[in-house]
Amino acid sequence: MLWTLDNDQMIGWLLAPVGFFIGIGFLAGGALIHQEYKNGIFLTLGVLVVSGFLSIAFHAESMSDMNPVTLIWGDSAMFMTSILCSFTCFAIVGLPLLLGDGNMKQGWPPSLQRIFDGAGKGEKKRQVVCGSCNEKLKIPSDYSGNIQCPSCKSTMKV
Ligand SMILES: [Zn+2]
Repeated sequence: MLWTLDNDQMIGWLLAPVGFFIGIGFLAGGALIHQEYKNGIFLTLGVLVVSGFLSIAFHAESMSDMNPVTLIWGDSAMFMTSILCSFTCFAIVGLPLLLGDGNMKQGWPPSLQRIFDGAGKGEKKRQVVCGSCNEKLKIPSDYSGNIQCPSCKSTMKV
């Protein structure tokens, strides 16, 4: 055993949000895999490692001491069950990586990517030089189309 915790029912309250986020992690990973994003596999594998570790670390001495992040109570048989459960899920989720991921998509869905970009240093910009007056213009890096130079009012295509 790694450590034990006194059961005054506080631990269940403390671990409930952890269990909630693990559940959200699995849902998000599943949604990403369903949309064929490879990162969904890595997210799910990561959550499996965390949840497997928590299941062992916060194992209960008896069934009345059970908490939201473990399925282990009592004797060592449940340890094996928990480890086997994690490994089985790990193998199933990781299988596409071993078999070749086919045409799974890299990166994150555009909706998530925008959030990540926004959390970073704001909208990414690139610099173009006006063909008429050589004024340096900053435009969003993912924009393409016509722009008008604010200095000389000439339009150009980027
Ligand atoms: Zn110009």
